[in-house]
Amino acid sequence: MLMGMQQRLGSRFAQVRSEGAGGRAALATVVGAEDLEYATVAARITPVLTDLAPHASSLCATVTAQGAVVLDGRVSDPALAAEAVAQIAATPGVRRVYNHLYTDAQIANLITAALALDERTTWETIDVACESGTAVLRGIVTSVEARVAAEEIAQHAPLVWHVENRLVVEQPTEKESRMHTYADDTAYGRQPGGKQECPPVTIIGLGAMGQALAGTFLQHGHPTIVWNRSASKADSLVASGATRAATAADAIAASRLAIVCVLDYDVAYQILDSAGEALAGRALVNLTNGTPQQARELAGWARERGAQYLDGGIMAVPPMIGRPEALLLYSGSHEAVEAHGETLGRLGSRIYLGSDPGLAALYDLALLSGMYGMFAGFLHASALVGTERVKATEFIGLLIPWLNAMTESLPSLADQIDTGDYTKDVASNLEMQTTAYTNIIAASQAQGISTELLVPMQVLMERAVAAGYGAGDISSLIELIRQPKAQSTTAN
Ligand code: NAP
Repeated sequence: MLMGMQQRLGSRFAQVRSEGAGGRAALATVVGAEDLEYATVAARITPVLTDLAPHASSLCATVTAQGAVVLDGRVSDPALAAEAVAQIAATPGVRRVYNHLYTDAQIANLITAALALDERTTWETIDVACESGTAVLRGIVTSVEARVAAEEIAQHAPLVWHVENRLVVEQPTEKESRMHTYADDTAYGRQPGGKQECPPVTIIGLGAMGQALAGTFLQHGHPTIVWNRSASKADSLVASGATRAATAADAIAASRLAIVCVLDYDVAYQILDSAGEALAGRALVNLTNGTPQQARELAGWARERGAQYLDGGIMAVPPMIGRPEALLLYSGSHEAVEAHGETLGRLGSRIYLGSDPGLAALYDLALLSGMYGMFAGFLHASALVGTERVKATEFIGLLIPWLNAMTESLPSLADQIDTGDYTKDVASNLEMQTTAYTNIIAASQAQGISTELLVPMQVLMERAVAAGYGAGDISSLIELIRQPKAQSTTAN
């Protein structure tokens, strides 16, 4: 956009810029000033901008032919920015100042305001945060709301380089029929209405994740009872107020809500088995990663012992626990959700997927599949450009916006999958994509890197084209994924 503006202004402007993470970059390039007057004004305002630069992560001042100064940038201190604007306005030769200096909070407010004005969105359900040029959207929305939110940001958000779309899209009917809660007041740091006592919570397993779970409950004032095979891992939690139980059975007996988060289901069974009758009457929440089948079996096992079983999938890494961006998926005992939903809300945003205990694991593993697909693409892409000594840290500057842009095609592909019509609104036909994909493989081989991550996709693409899906979009591959041993799938 700036390039286009420069072309329109020709050389009739002077510019002072600072770009850099944390605002440490030096200011001072003056470009395009054919007339000495612009350069003189730019030179006069440079000391003011130099003072502001440490408090800005990007800063640009353009002096126009009419003596107008257009300020553009992201600042951390609005008071200092206002002072700088006043000083620049008082600089000889400056006739007018256009102030487009914003803090991250102001940028987030502008986005929220744009969403609020758009009648197509129920903006109250969309939380907007902004940090260092990245706008993060969170909330549970309809697909229309998700699209509108992205449009509004593209059109109205200044200084947003990336949009992290963490909106969870649900159809309105599902949204109404499923009980879900999106990040309660506490998770957003707001005080819950009225005084309330925090019920005790038991945490079994104090690996990296278990420690984060226990630490979060402690921070919120819940009496927290902990147990871990290696008892010393409880030391720092105990120092912060947790109670160390001597056995897993003691820990489970100590509160009505017991959360298990250990390496795998074998370990979980081993520990829970040792708890004996302590499980009866407890809500057992298992956040150990596993398969839907394992979750369903453990649910039956727990029910036989008189426990309500809730399975959970943690879509977060330990440092995110307790923040709204940590998403926890639950399924299983509705009674457990009713009784302990608020306590579980301390850990982050949460979605209850229904009474089938296998659903949380299913969604969890599906989301992880998407993540690993992205990692695979990132790794291969980095290796490919790396053959010409391009650093991965530089390349992601291109890759991240590209991937973000491509996620916008997912709603259309998802619609094709749901309707089974892969020829609807085709953006890029599969036959063309298969041909281009061959080039990625050929180039990778020629550059001397492995094609192991790419070949399985090529096999599916070629099979789909051979089966008659070439004119449709890449979404048709799902037909072959659904029938791994399909002999002869033919498009209608
Ligand atoms: P971790 O740091 O490796 O901790 C493993 C836990 O399992 C420890 O408490 C460990 O006890 C216990 N354990 C392992 N073998 C055991 C055995 N034979 N008997 C008794 N206890 C045993 O793993 P984590 O990061 O906490 O992950 C825990 C669960 O959360 C996993 O299912 C993981 O997939 C899931 N998860 C993790 C993340 C993440 O980013 N970390 C994210 C989402 C989900 P000791 O301390 O005695 O070894």
